[in-house]
Amino acid sequence: MAVRECIVGLEWGDEGKAKIVDERIAHAKRVNGNKRVIFIRFQGGPNAGHTIYIPTETGLKKFVAHAAPCGIASNTDLGIGPSVAFDPEKFVKEVDEAKATFGDYTGRIMISERTGVLLDYHRVLDMYQEQRRSHKVGTTASGIGPFYMCNAERTTRITFADYVSDKFPDRLREVLDWFKPQLESMGKNIDDYCQELITIHNPIRKNLKDFKERLEYRLQEYIKGGHHIIIEGAQGTYLDVDMGTIPDQTSSHLLAQDAFSGLGLSRRDFKIYGVEKVYPTRVGNGPMPTLAEELQEVGANSGEKGATTGRVRRVGYPDWVLIKRAVLLNDVDGIYITRVDNAQDRNWKVCTQYKIGDCLTKEIPLDLSNAKPIYDAKTYEWHLFNAPKDLSDPEKVDKQLRPLRSNIIQAGFDNLPEGLLKYIKKHNNYVGRPIIGISIGPARGELVSV
Ligand code: GDP
Repeated sequence: MAVRECIVGLEWGDEGKAKIVDERIAHAKRVNGNKRVIFIRFQGGPNAGHTIYIPTETGLKKFVAHAAPCGIASNTDLGIGPSVAFDPEKFVKEVDEAKATFGDYTGRIMISERTGVLLDYHRVLDMYQEQRRSHKVGTTASGIGPFYMCNAERTTRITFADYVSDKFPDRLREVLDWFKPQLESMGKNIDDYCQELITIHNPIRKNLKDFKERLEYRLQEYIKGGHHIIIEGAQGTYLDVDMGTIPDQTSSHLLAQDAFSGLGLSRRDFKIYGVEKVYPTRVGNGPMPTLAEELQEVGANSGEKGATTGRVRRVGYPDWVLIKRAVLLNDVDGIYITRVDNAQDRNWKVCTQYKIGDCLTKEIPLDLSNAKPIYDAKTYEWHLFNAPKDLSDPEKVDKQLRPLRSNIIQAGFDNLPEGLLKYIKKHNNYVGRPIIGISIGPARGELVSV
């Protein structure tokens, strides 16, 4: 049986998708190691960061992917879908870094000819727009908003096919001229800027030329050959451009079901898995109903900082109203919960409805800023193992905690602490789709399957 899966975040990103993806790739190889595994990014840009910790005999090896799909750390074939904001500079750098550790990628990367290319002027336009906004969206200034504006505008989208062809210098000049007033107001001289970008990108374009593919057709060959396909979304459901917390979200469509249309694949052939961090976190601006001051130390002790920006993540109590809708929107088949270890030894209340004005509701409104969380009377607590308070650097505590985590994995799901098992049971009843995996550490393998 070939493994066909799509993995997405159910909150505001940083749920630990990369870790789960890493587990699922290992699973696919175990199911049938004779088949290839292709790992595909279907949307978003390098504003998302994905961290993987690989256990070795001497400690943990850390790998962070931004522009490259994080399957790069698992020696898979790699695909970049047409809805990705593809940053060629960062991509080449990451692939080069990964090569030294994870092997050569020659002939193993496919980038859709339709994929748009994210260039420096998108970042300049991002800063220009944020400066002009009265409501700051807390952009990472990676250029993602202007990039998707160009995609929607049509003529200012520089496709990957344009980028690697001889047309690139002329296309670039056209687009820079289109944005001339904004770029000049940000101190750019169009002639010099255009030349500067051409000089930077000429060697990169040459390097990437052979990766251009009609991805939807190539993926059909993987399907016919019975190969494994794993798709990963960046960010999380509540940052989706239409279904997130408008206007504090990102600019792409990131729900699982959006993946299939762009890749020419059928939802019917795939399992969709959602990743949920026990305590939701959020970077950037925007409402978060269960945000709680007393939980910020949980975040600090658990190293809750953005992998791309280093920004501190705000922490809230479990919000099942949020999760239930995310499960619905993504049509999730099963859920992985993460950071269950970081959540130990604390009494967790759970939000099961909101109060908006005088009304109680279990629905997520368009404007979440007035939603007050209503917590269920029952609370949950569990203890997995004795751990130091400061867990912000997984590499430092690995030696001490790896054997303790290993004991829990060996003991299996039925022997998890009673408080945690009750939490999972209640969660399953409320959300309507089952938790199928419990992550108890940052490293590959630190997962209890149900
Ligand atoms: P992603 O963008 O959703 O992949 O998430 P990030 O990579 O930004 O952040 C997830 C971080 O949490 C990474 O450093 C992971 O190693 C770590 N992580 C994931 N699952 C667990 C877990 O169960 N326990 C602990 N302690 N860390 C985890």
